[in-house]
Amino acid sequence: MNIFIKDALEEITHAYESYENTIEHLREENKKLRDEHYKDAELAAMKSELDSFKEAYYRGFPLTAQEKVQIEEWKKAHDTMEHNNPKGYHGVSGGGFAYIFYPTAIGTPIKCRCNICHKIALNYAVTNGIIKDEFDSATYNDYMREHNALIEINDF
Ligand SMILES: [Zn+2]
Repeated sequence: MNIFIKDALEEITHAYESYENTIEHLREENKKLRDEHYKDAELAAMKSELDSFKEAYYRGFPLTAQEKVQIEEWKKAHDTMEHNNPKGYHGVSGGGFAYIFYPTAIGTPIKCRCNICHKIALNYAVTNGIIKDEFDSATYNDYMREHNALIEINDF
């Protein structure tokens, strides 16, 4: 083969390999950019989801794990002692207790109240009123206190 043609072929082959390497390198860089964009999009979606959880958290009135345990223990003791209901069954949909949150500038006290006792205490408070159908808060409070029908938790 002519030495000139051989040199030209080697030069073309070398250039071809160099272009192939460049193309492969660019493909890898392109993939990295797409992955980084994907990561950015994924992080943005996760941040958005976190923001919505935070919003729900601050809008609601969450209990700490310790407060939940304290309330559950009180509920079980109350149901057992007052209503002979150690399993705490309150019908298919539940609803035996009301959770009352009082948002204030210094914290959010929580009360959990037995609805059965609440209804009985309301009935006594109205029928025992000095004037017929007048609500007697002392009678209500006495009944609730005597039957340990309310637990109060201050988170501050
Ligand atoms: Zn009760």
